[in-house]
Amino acid sequence: MEPDGPNALARAIGLLGDEWTLLILRQAMAGTTRYVDFAAALPISNAVLTRRLETLVAERLVERSVYQERPVRAEYVLTRRGRGVWPVLVAMWGWERTWVPEHVYATPPIPHRQCGREMTPLFCCAACGEPAPATSMRTGWGPSGGWRRSVPEVSTRRRPGSRAGRAETPTLYPDTMAVFGNRWSAAVVGAAFRGVRRFSEFQELLGAPPSLLTERLASLTERGILRQVEVAPHRVEYALTRKGLDFFPVVALALQWAERWYTAAEGPVMAWTHACGAAFEGELTCDHCRVPLRPRDIVLEEP
Ligand SMILES: [Zn+2]
Ligand SMILES: [Zn+2]
Repeated sequence: MEPDGPNALARAIGLLGDEWTLLILRQAMAGTTRYVDFAAALPISNAVLTRRLETLVAERLVERSVYQERPVRAEYVLTRRGRGVWPVLVAMWGWERTWVPEHVYATPPIPHRQCGREMTPLFCCAACGEPAPATSMRTGWGPSGGWRRSVPEVSTRRRPGSRAGRAETPTLYPDTMAVFGNRWSAAVVGAAFRGVRRFSEFQELLGAPPSLLTERLASLTERGILRQVEVAPHRVEYALTRKGLDFFPVVALALQWAERWYTAAEGPVMAWTHACGAAFEGELTCDHCRVPLRPRDIVLEEP
């Protein structure tokens, strides 16, 4: 990793902030390995599927192996790094299910095998077992942190729903992508979690072009992730709503995954301390029985 280049957080958002990538990973976690089966299961063109799989291979989330020579047939198997994205997907599912109720087709109920009840993931501290909302955390930058290094590099990737002729394509997690699928939105929400509220501060810390920043703030406000607070006549600040605050597990788990697999020589992006005093390590549990969730105990349905 480059000493001054994008850090683990930027890498995670740049890679996972793409709906096709998430769809492919989810399909792979459901057991799909062959190219033809991905192509059959997803409303995706061959060119896009090929490109995304190449990226996932290059980033070592999946391994490609040829199982037939003529014609060439390859399969794509998740690595440990790839399987490690599972909690992030579950957290996205949980957030969409709670906050985007009209989006039912992508978030059918999931029973928890341990207790048999329909669960919603609850983000907890692995040390003390207590819930770990954003407000229970003390955070500071680690050695590879800093605002500029945490913004993903420009990406030309697009959301599937934005392609001409594909308007009918069901998107996996629309609001998640509104936050996560765009570098400036992700950066703004990240900064909001660190307590930034003023336009000038967002602009200065992130180095965001003002017109883009205006647009991103408006769009996040429209989706109910941020709200405007009038602090003085004609002076507005932006604060996370409950929906916005509730997005915290997605960000925290994506960062946790990235810190593990894109470790910087100089140290982590963030230093976290939970309210219990422990260095924070988050995990998802079942909100009914509080048993930590494992892939074999729940099944993320296909969209
Ligand atoms: Zn704790
Ligand atoms: Zn349970």
